[in-house]
Amino acid sequence: MREISHKLAFAHDAAPTRTSDVFDPNNGSVQARVALGDAALLDRAVEAAKKAQPAWAAVNPQRRARVMFNFKALVEKNMDELAHLLSSEHGKVIADSKGDIQRGLEVIEFCCGIPHVLKGEFTQGAGPGIDVYSFRQPIGIGAGITPFNFPGMIPLWMSGVAIATGNAFIMKPSERDPSVPVRLAELFSEAGLPDGILQVVQGDKEMVDAILDHPDIAAISFVGSSDIAHYVYKRGVDNGKRVQALGGAKNHGIVMPDADLDQVVNDLSGAAFGSAGERCMALPVVTPVGEKTAIALREKLIPAIAALRVGVSTDPEAHYGPVVTAAHKAKIESYIQMGVDEGAELVVDGRGFTLQGHEKGFFVGPTLFDHVKPTMRSYKEEIFGPVLQMVRAETFEEALALPSEHQYGNGVAIFTRNGHAAREFAARVNVGMVGINVPIPVPVAYHTFGGWKRSAFGDTNQHGMEGVKFWTKVKTITQRWPDGGVGDAANAFVIPTMG
Ligand code: NAD
Repeated sequence: MREISHKLAFAHDAAPTRTSDVFDPNNGSVQARVALGDAALLDRAVEAAKKAQPAWAAVNPQRRARVMFNFKALVEKNMDELAHLLSSEHGKVIADSKGDIQRGLEVIEFCCGIPHVLKGEFTQGAGPGIDVYSFRQPIGIGAGITPFNFPGMIPLWMSGVAIATGNAFIMKPSERDPSVPVRLAELFSEAGLPDGILQVVQGDKEMVDAILDHPDIAAISFVGSSDIAHYVYKRGVDNGKRVQALGGAKNHGIVMPDADLDQVVNDLSGAAFGSAGERCMALPVVTPVGEKTAIALREKLIPAIAALRVGVSTDPEAHYGPVVTAAHKAKIESYIQMGVDEGAELVVDGRGFTLQGHEKGFFVGPTLFDHVKPTMRSYKEEIFGPVLQMVRAETFEEALALPSEHQYGNGVAIFTRNGHAAREFAARVNVGMVGINVPIPVPVAYHTFGGWKRSAFGDTNQHGMEGVKFWTKVKTITQRWPDGGVGDAANAFVIPTMG
């Protein structure tokens, strides 16, 4: 049995006291065991980080950027191996795993420009003989806690910016697919990153709690489901840390009567079912506006769904692969039953799907519901599987209200040829990331990623300048170099102003 361990700056050979099974979702077998670390292990990792971080912060930013350039080249060189490893634990198809890693690499490309980003601000002559300048310094030691669904991209969102800005970083990946973050950390070492700057600690709630309570960890970035995001946010903030905690999602695609329906169906197939719907920027809800749009869309969706190929993650023809675990498969299927019980119309039922030769794999067939109502629990909650729910709306205003009033506010898309409707929608919708004829509006790396409402707790987003702000503290210096002489004694007792 393959044993998956941590990536630490010190020798750690002791057998773990607790482990967790890592499955091969394509055939349902246990393919590896991951060690689950505890507070004592975290203490040692933090000690190593504390030793290494000051020297790393003192390395000039251009040299830190060079490590990013080296790392990018190494990841590209090892892309095939990384993508296969990712798919073997997650279940997504190889092309999608490459996309997962590539989106993370784009954040590394942003980090290659870190010297420019860290230049700071300067005001010459803010008062007589007075200059004011400000710059950003690393927060010290940061930690990241990541979900199973993007084991390449999300660890790189966090670690790239945290490291490039001069911090030491401790990463706690999902215990369901823990191997890729370890490989990425190994490649960072090969790229020239000093020991102790990036460590990976494996674990579950016990390790998360140790991170939340550790007095020397200054900032925590979390991505996962909303209840846990909220818990991480509250406990971390109570302990005086800076915390950003991104949560779940239920993104809507609004289809206006003038939309190009063939394009919409093509976009929706990928956005609703790609990666088996296990994306926080998937489109699991579609809202056609007007009866005619709903009827036409439904007519085109049914054959498009029938044409989807579900297969093992190494099948180059497969549109999507298995979901991550048997427990997750059971959860998705229970939501499908809930939708039936609540009175939604089950148009295509993906339950009971089996793949010949892979009968024990965690596959769920594509599923379509129509006549879903906003009052239904299966609509209000995140399913995170290949399930598309059609919620019909009579008017633009009704369609706009659906994502705006939903508990989640991660992403949303509108499909239309009408610029005014699109503009109005983008301005008024109560959601953080908006696509206009773009089904999965994940912002590019030099912009920033984050949702609203229960999709994100804390006030900074991931990557781009928001990421730089999160991983640094701003310091402002007011300096005076008088040319001799003594100031006005009376004025020394009032709050200084620049006159
Ligand atoms: P999860 O919340 O189960 O796990 C996330 C992390 O929290 C993991 O590292 C896990 O070990 C840890 N964890 C799990 N239970 C815990 C507990 N009780 N106490 C403390 N820590 C705990 O999420 P997941 O199933 O791995 O990932 C899917 C979820 O992540 C979905 O809800 C999805 O929408 C969300 N997600 C959000 C974004 C975003 O950007 N908003 C991106 C990707 C995924």
